[in-house]
Amino acid sequence: MNPETERTQPAGMIFDLKRFAVHDGGGLRSTLFLKGCPLRCPWCQNPEGLEKEPLLWYDPSQCMRCAACVSVCPQNALSMTPANGNSPERIHMVPSACSLCGKCEEACPAAAIEVRGRRIGVQEAVSMLLRDRIFFRDSGGVTLSGGEVLLQWEFAAAVLAGCKAQGADTAIETSLMGPPRAVEELMKVTDHFLIDIKIFDPEKHRQIIGTDNRRILANYEMLLHGNADVLVRTPLIPGYTADDENIRSIARYIVSQDPDARYELLNYNPLCRSKYEALERPYPVDEIRPLSAEEMEHFYEILREEHVPHIIT
Ligand code: SF4
Ligand code: SF4
Repeated sequence: MNPETERTQPAGMIFDLKRFAVHDGGGLRSTLFLKGCPLRCPWCQNPEGLEKEPLLWYDPSQCMRCAACVSVCPQNALSMTPANGNSPERIHMVPSACSLCGKCEEACPAAAIEVRGRRIGVQEAVSMLLRDRIFFRDSGGVTLSGGEVLLQWEFAAAVLAGCKAQGADTAIETSLMGPPRAVEELMKVTDHFLIDIKIFDPEKHRQIIGTDNRRILANYEMLLHGNADVLVRTPLIPGYTADDENIRSIARYIVSQDPDARYELLNYNPLCRSKYEALERPYPVDEIRPLSAEEMEHFYEILREEHVPHIIT
């Protein structure tokens, strides 16, 4: 890419790159995570991706309790808190005081503290995503996830166009909460859309997630009218999404829209709990446990009753 083109292309804010991913589309994939999300799902698996801006990230399991970070911080944003009950000694962060200067990250001998989130150009993103392309073979490729990809759709579209130009298969994981223009543009460069429909009732969607789902459903229908390859997914969260009426309604709706619908139910994954600890944020669904095999089977039976043509397990 010539320097002039690079200058005029949008930059993006990212927070992670997952290499050799196996759940973000077909085959082995490289997945780039974009920052910022308009939704607030209480069970969010990537809380570090919610805000658009970078944030300070601390991993207590890596920390050696040397306090090097505390001593270099020019803003006094860090302190060492003593062990308390079951909680071991750890670094306490005051995000409002932090200027994101990165000095703590440089000083840390254990890579336990870092500024997570950085702005990158399109060409750098394409290079990161294609570094492992030798392993993609026929079915793998690159995926953009988040956060919500549609919030940075111009950057995303340029990155995926760059990957496609080099022959890579492209996918997006999205809630579809974004402007129709974003969906329209991304359809031109995206081979597969992995979309979430979490709650069918618009009012319940608004109460739990913070906004109703009309835009999401309209964007889904736009994808279908454009003959996009779409996989619909619902995370099964007891007390929020995992109830018969919700799953039946989503199944009935997608079958009415797409006679060839593909639908995947995702069991609740509690592994993200440690991320909330790292951010010193309360984990809103702390009491919830994954569904048993019998409970999953119960929901699959609903999909069969509603004649979902392709149930992805
Ligand atoms: S990024 Fe800078 S201001 Fe923020 S905690 Fe680290 S050293 Fe302090
Ligand atoms: S510098 Fe790193 S290892 Fe040392 S206390 Fe801070 S976060 Fe922990």
